[in-house]
Amino acid sequence: MIIHLRPDTPEDQLRAFGERLGAIHIRQPERHVLVTSSKRQALNGEAEGVEDYIQETFAFGDDRQLAAKTYTGGKMRRVALSDSLAIGGDAMETLMITGPCAVENAAQIEKAAAFLAERGVKALRAGAFKPRTSPYSFQGLGLDGLKLLAQMRERYGFAIVTEVRDATHVDAVIEYADVVQIGTKAMYDQGVLRRCGKANKAVLIKRGFGSTLQECVQAAEFVLSGGNANVVLCERGIRTFEDKTRFTLDLCGVAWLKEYTNLPVVVDPSHAMGYRYGVPDLTRAAVAMGVDGLLIETHPTPDQAWSDAAQQLDFDGFAALQDSVQAVASAVGRTMI
Ligand code: PEP
Ligand code: MN
Repeated sequence: MIIHLRPDTPEDQLRAFGERLGAIHIRQPERHVLVTSSKRQALNGEAEGVEDYIQETFAFGDDRQLAAKTYTGGKMRRVALSDSLAIGGDAMETLMITGPCAVENAAQIEKAAAFLAERGVKALRAGAFKPRTSPYSFQGLGLDGLKLLAQMRERYGFAIVTEVRDATHVDAVIEYADVVQIGTKAMYDQGVLRRCGKANKAVLIKRGFGSTLQECVQAAEFVLSGGNANVVLCERGIRTFEDKTRFTLDLCGVAWLKEYTNLPVVVDPSHAMGYRYGVPDLTRAAVAMGVDGLLIETHPTPDQAWSDAAQQLDFDGFAALQDSVQAVASAVGRTMI
């Protein structure tokens, strides 16, 4: 249950009320928000002393609460990614977020950034802390990678999206990035989720490849209930019995997220497919569905990439994809940004 209270609710009464309910308190400029388990469907005697301060209450069928579309009365949340870039809401826009899987060295990221800036890309994404499936694979440049990304922001004005692998370096990622990406493996990391709930940066949560939609939304609830309203969800493929492709892109899940949550939805066809040949078609399918953003891997020399070589597009491939999605976007009344 979510309870809105007036901003002038006396602190002592507010605290006591919250404790009686076992609620999480979010302080917003225009109101106090208390969030309890969704098992609570009504206030009984607990509101005694604060009745006059309660503005509105909302009951839910499960713990999809702050992220629920019913909470915002059907309105979609608009999330600021930087001072000049936002995603979602009722803007009929689809944001292209792209870059190499990982920052490998200064020359590689500069080459990618220069090309993508020329193509009008506004959000650059590359990993500095890579959550690899083997400890012997390239793990990313760490802090040096974050610094190189920050240089690309200075040079080209991108919003920088980069991944946090675990709670040990979450502060550094929050400091350097504009958007903190929580990857498929970190989606359950409570340290990361809780720290991001206190960050004043947007957070992009990728659905775990073995997670249900409800679990993914509840990961978002950890960040939202921490007080950070800027959460974006990303579908990046789930694990199924199929092994011809790397994962299975769950476009049904995307339709569900759009129907039942108020959060912007991004689709990542690169990690879902695992092979570059499928990326353009999946991108066009996602755009046709009216997603808020795309996450595409693009590398100056994909075959030589230190991670995810098979799925990254080269520059010509990216340019062709970008050109081809325009017609699909306009057919569904959207603009690619
Ligand atoms: C990535 O975005 O580079 C990445 C590792 O993604 P995921 O967490 O979806 O595997
Ligand atoms: Mn990758």
